Amino acid sequence: MSRRVAFLPVTAMWHPFADMAAVSDSGPFVLARGERQFVFDESGARYLDATAGLWFANVGHGRAEIAAAIGEQAARIAHFSSFGDMAERPALELAERVAALAPVPGSRVFFTSGGSDAVDTAKKLVRRYWHAVGEPGRRVVITRERAYHGMHWGGTSLSGIDPNREGYGELQPDVVRVAWDDAQALADAIDALGAENVGAFFCEPVIGAGGVHFAGEEYLTQARRVCEERGVLWVSDEVITGFGRTGEWFASTRFRLDPDLVLTAKGLTSGYVPMGAVLAAPRVAAPFFDEPGTVWRHGYTYSGHAVAAAAGLASLDILEREQLVARVRDLEPAVTSSLSPLAELDAVSEVRSGVGLLAAVQLEADLLAADDQLLPRVVLEMRRRGVLTRGLVGGALQLSPPFVVDEADLKTFADVAAEAIEAAAGSGRT
Ligand code: PLP
Repeated sequence: MSRRVAFLPVTAMWHPFADMAAVSDSGPFVLARGERQFVFDESGARYLDATAGLWFANVGHGRAEIAAAIGEQAARIAHFSSFGDMAERPALELAERVAALAPVPGSRVFFTSGGSDAVDTAKKLVRRYWHAVGEPGRRVVITRERAYHGMHWGGTSLSGIDPNREGYGELQPDVVRVAWDDAQALADAIDALGAENVGAFFCEPVIGAGGVHFAGEEYLTQARRVCEERGVLWVSDEVITGFGRTGEWFASTRFRLDPDLVLTAKGLTSGYVPMGAVLAAPRVAAPFFDEPGTVWRHGYTYSGHAVAAAAGLASLDILEREQLVARVRDLEPAVTSSLSPLAELDAVSEVRSGVGLLAAVQLEADLLAADDQLLPRVVLEMRRRGVLTRGLVGGALQLSPPFVVDEADLKTFADVAAEAIEAAAGSGRT
């Protein structure tokens, strides 16, 4: 009889993206508090947060003024509803502030509970928009290899990461995937489908969870033109890149993408309370704002949640007052100069960096193929040495720290990564 059956699980919590048998055996790794770019476990040990949690803690951890804003709002009223004509003041204010920062002037802000909600909201809005303007045939959505668009059913259908699609049978129809870095392939796909059948192109300006891949400014410019010429809506998924990570408020602004929709979450509140938003350019919002009687029957209980909005306002205050977006741009060269020596290691094939506080250290394909535990071991070795990072799809280490890091932190990441890679690759060889 297997002993595991009698073994009480260490935790009742089913962790996302987890091998729960392993987590139950080893127990969860529990963090107790955070302070700017550092987090502390329950024993008090300190770690450099190299990933801003899951790419969200843009202003860093433990900000008392965000906690105070959350507490004050919760004591006043946590939330009621934003359906119909209802609202709480923080959500209205946050919508104004976000609209003022949006890549397209005059954008409208539709709040969601997180990034996956934003993706599925956009997927529905694309169809609802084309229906409203009399082109309901534009049903196909185009997505890219390596794309991560959240974990709802719509977003999973858009995924360019095969392991995330496996085991469900047929996903949503009317999704076509193209190469991640080839604007001509996008044009060919639209032309083959007939532009009159294509609703939108979903694009992460810098691919994040798929391994931190930037197809280049020229690719983005060409792909944007392809969509423009064919009347296909451009959806920038900026759940990671929004609110400063590329050194501009939005990557769509930096790369002049003139997006029809922008998807955000994470950095909107720096993750202090879950919240997302879809920013709709005037063209897309017009049928719903200008036509009396046109109702979009869509929204979530927590759309415009007052506590989340209060957190968002306080996070924006910090980003603006401490000029953290400019700081990201200033640190951009230091990311490359700190990490590029890692490419000299035998076990590293490539370092990807160059856009804001986003980078990946790619391990050698042969080593990964021969040893599927190499990447998790490197991550664990780094944790043992006081740096928290993550393994990304394809075998890379993630760097996307809070914006308050300094050059010394980037150097620490690189030094610890080098030691951990040597240790993990060495231990795999014995
Ligand atoms: N879109 C992108 C580009 C993301 O990176 C993510 C999450 O990492 C999502 C959507 C989904 O966001 P959430 O996990 O908040 O649902």
